[in-house]
Amino acid sequence: EAKRQGRNRWSIFEHSLDRATRDRQSLQKRLRTALAEDRFALHYQPQVELATGRIAGMEALLRWRDPEEQPQSPEVFVAIAEESGLIIPLGEWVLQEACRQQRRWMDQGLTLQIAVNLSPSQFQDPEIHHRVCEVLRASGTATHHIALEITERAAFADPERARRTLDAWCQRGLQFAIDDFGTGQASLSYLTDLPTALIKIDRGFIAPLPEDPQHRAIVEGVIHMAHQLGRPVLAEGVETMAQWEWLKAQGCDLAQGYAIARPMPAEAVPDWLATWLQDRSLSHEQGIFVA
Ligand code: C2E
Ligand code: MG
Ligand code: MG
Ligand code: MG
Repeated sequence: EAKRQGRNRWSIFEHSLDRATRDRQSLQKRLRTALAEDRFALHYQPQVELATGRIAGMEALLRWRDPEEQPQSPEVFVAIAEESGLIIPLGEWVLQEACRQQRRWMDQGLTLQIAVNLSPSQFQDPEIHHRVCEVLRASGTATHHIALEITERAAFADPERARRTLDAWCQRGLQFAIDDFGTGQASLSYLTDLPTALIKIDRGFIAPLPEDPQHRAIVEGVIHMAHQLGRPVLAEGVETMAQWEWLKAQGCDLAQGYAIARPMPAEAVPDWLATWLQDRSLSHEQGIFVA
């Protein structure tokens, strides 16, 4: 009896493994098709200066227009794209599209810096430096109009190589940010070794603010240390005005989050910007800057 039950359990386990593998393979296949059929899009979320409300740029966030499915989270499909190597052409598409959008906005009189996420395996690709420079060259986008976001984990997997890549980008005028800061092993002091970068505090540290005293202490500490090291700080996932006010009072430089705006399609950006700037009596020239 025990043996039979054991075998049944095993076959249920085997069955669900099969299924997970099949789901994964089917997802990989659909992602490839989506790339070939141009079914990805970028949405944009503003990055705002807390003290003034000025716009520092827009983060490009990948969306998958899968007609058969509910919207899929990039956290899921980017991970699948990483496993299958599809992240390399997909990441290149993201950068190309961000450059194209940057130029479209320029043509409309909007000079906006766009921040582009690089996944860990994309950043570790030995060709990454060359690929990024080539896309920028081909698109004609000014290097200082693009910022690259690299997670702490990616930057610290191979610190020596990371530093060389980041130094080379910096020399070309590209900017970069350390994304999801606080979720990996890196210490802030390590960041002093890297060329100037924006520190993006992970939204997990922002969500419990301003009530939670421990998170207040952590975030205050990060802001203070980053400033001592001459690095600007951005708070991710700002959802409430109370968080906005608290962060502003701590001298946090920038914020991003639903309290400001949800990620939106590129077409929605000009109207959103006009309203945001009007509400603060800022002209486009005053209200948008490229760091
Ligand atoms: P991330 O780079 O840290 O992006 C921030 C994520 O937080 C975005 O989720 C954004 O929509 C979400 N977010 C912004 N404000 C708030 C808020 O106030 N509250 C909450 N709860 N969430 C907020 P999204 O678009 O689902 O992307 C998730 C992650 O997927 C990104 O995290 C990034 O790691 C990855 N990702 C997105 N687009 C790309 C891409 O083009 N390439 C790569 N390699 N990764 C991407
Ligand atoms: Mg990011
Ligand atoms: Mg982040
Ligand atoms: Mg994240």
